[in-house]
Amino acid sequence: MLIALTVDVHEEDRPTDVGRAADWLHEAGIGATFFVPSALFTHPGFRPHIRRLPALGHEVGSHGHGHDFTEIRALMRGAAAELDFLRRSHALYAETFGGAPVSFRSPAWCPLGQAAIQTLVDLGYRVDSSATPQRLPIFSSTPYANTWLFARRGLSELAPGLLEVPTSCLLLPAASPTFLTLRRRAALAFLRLLLWEARRWPDRVPCVQLHVGDFVPDAAVQPPDERLGLSSFVPRRDGGLRFKVFLRERDPRRVYAITLGVIEALRGQPGSRFGMLRELAGSAEIAPVQRRGIDFRG
Ligand SMILES: [Zn+2]
Repeated sequence: MLIALTVDVHEEDRPTDVGRAADWLHEAGIGATFFVPSALFTHPGFRPHIRRLPALGHEVGSHGHGHDFTEIRALMRGAAAELDFLRRSHALYAETFGGAPVSFRSPAWCPLGQAAIQTLVDLGYRVDSSATPQRLPIFSSTPYANTWLFARRGLSELAPGLLEVPTSCLLLPAASPTFLTLRRRAALAFLRLLLWEARRWPDRVPCVQLHVGDFVPDAAVQPPDERLGLSSFVPRRDGGLRFKVFLRERDPRRVYAITLGVIEALRGQPGSRFGMLRELAGSAEIAPVQRRGIDFRG
């Protein structure tokens, strides 16, 4: 069984944490897929750390260009012209790495409209990992959109040549924000449930998301960069329910302990190995396309 460990990088991260996470995984013998917004390719702080990723045995996938709500709206329901940032992002990738990206993940796992899917196909992407099957919209950043409620749980062909590898999910994604909200014991129970599912149904690939800061035990505690108020309990069209960010574990040592637990649980799967998402491109027996008739405009 292949297990895909993915690490989403964001502008708010400390640039050096990208290098620390990449080194940590390299030393642990894990090749991960780093999803990076391409605006960071030219950022003086991030650039050196991001350029090192392939040499450390990691894949660099696309996480959009600016990773903002303009891009999220365009991905969900934009026309082809509003998706120019995908072409720009693709060109920047080629300039930075001398090759083309294989894997894509939308910012905040937002659903992809038909124009976005077609643009990804035109650009030659072969793997998409934007889906979070059966995620509850109310806890997502786009609470009024369809957050892949009816998406398939296994590998499927999103469009000809484009393989959907969903981020493992059941109401909540198997991802850093969920783990840090549930804390170690509940997070590991949740993860074991998804791993059981993957053993039971061979088309399910465990695909787990972490953040670079999750690998850094000696960082300073960082308070949320927003304030808790009444409005934090009203779902925003762009951003969802903000009180959720105040529920997350912030102590770096406890965050790191959760990360260790997650990696151990994944490593403990009999017959499993860590792999990058690009390894799945074109390799799997894929279920027929069944999602194309669904209207994602929500
Ligand atoms: Zn992101």
